[in-house]
Amino acid sequence: MFTRRNFLAASVAAGSLLVTGQSMAQGKGLIGISMPTKSSTRWISDGESMVKEFTALGYETDLQYAEDDIPNQLAQIENMVTKGAKVLIIAAIDGTTLSDVLQKAHDAGIKVFAYDRLISKTANVDYYTTFDNFGVGVLQGNSLIAGLKASGAGPYNVELFGGSPDDTNAFYFYDGAMSVLQPLIDSKEVVVVSGQMGMDKVGTLRWDGAVAQARMDNLLSANYTDKKVNGVLAPYDGLSRGIISSLKGVGYGSADQPMPIVTGQDAELPSVKGMIAGEQYSTVFKDTRELAKVTAKMVDTVLQGKEPEINDTKTYNNGVKVVPSYLLTPYSVGKDDIKKMLVDSGYYTQDQIDN
Ligand code: BGC
Repeated sequence: MFTRRNFLAASVAAGSLLVTGQSMAQGKGLIGISMPTKSSTRWISDGESMVKEFTALGYETDLQYAEDDIPNQLAQIENMVTKGAKVLIIAAIDGTTLSDVLQKAHDAGIKVFAYDRLISKTANVDYYTTFDNFGVGVLQGNSLIAGLKASGAGPYNVELFGGSPDDTNAFYFYDGAMSVLQPLIDSKEVVVVSGQMGMDKVGTLRWDGAVAQARMDNLLSANYTDKKVNGVLAPYDGLSRGIISSLKGVGYGSADQPMPIVTGQDAELPSVKGMIAGEQYSTVFKDTRELAKVTAKMVDTVLQGKEPEINDTKTYNNGVKVVPSYLLTPYSVGKDDIKKMLVDSGYYTQDQIDN
């Protein structure tokens, strides 16, 4: 018997057939998205935003996270090549390790986009989408100095942390920050008490917060038994939180021993909460939704056989070629900017920040 219920069920089935048929007709191919880790929320947002953008443009996606394990990332990318991806979008764990798999990708006619982390030592990377990374460092240096000046008169005791030495971004961040700090170190307004400077001494492998925490513990016990540290240059929120834990462990964060000025990057939720709690001084907001949008648009343009818009053809030499890049603008965010920059922009809800 053909009841109303059957009729509805039949219409729904026909509708879904239609939808499937349509998406098959529109299917523009598979995009492989290889992200480094889920341990930092920014990469989760990046992945989610890209899937959304590519789906809206009619592509299928294969999104994988490698949990900071290089062989894992290689296997995931190999698999994307085998599955016939048209484009690979890669935020590398170690930008120097992908040459073999990218040769295979190139031979198969696959375009490769380096996503926020440059891929080095290979010609087989077509474009780089990122933020102004030197600019990120400048924002961090300026914020550190602004915080120190607001906290009282100098000279200021400061320690420096860098990112992972296998990520070229870490050098741009450090150099950008030092373009601000070095003149003040030269004039002795800023004193690096440990004397540890340069990426070979201050780098933090794999951006690991526990490594930063252990190094801060050592710096404090070796150099600060009879003096106070006033500021710490930290290039990423995950490191900032490790450093802050170390500082709290020896009593910083109280009325007679205030928390030093600690910078950061990525506006990660726990750090935003830490800023409200007066622990972390600042972060750098990089709108990953915009990066995903720009990347998806560039990919779509390239797959139509056209030239995508780029805005930097000089900065990112990967050792083999200068990779044509599109750079977005990073923003410094202090406690007072949280609502305007992170809530009003829809990056977080007020509820996420409050709870
Ligand atoms: C990214 C930063 C991030 C860091 C650690 C860098 O390559 O540019 O946004 O803080 O990796 O994940």
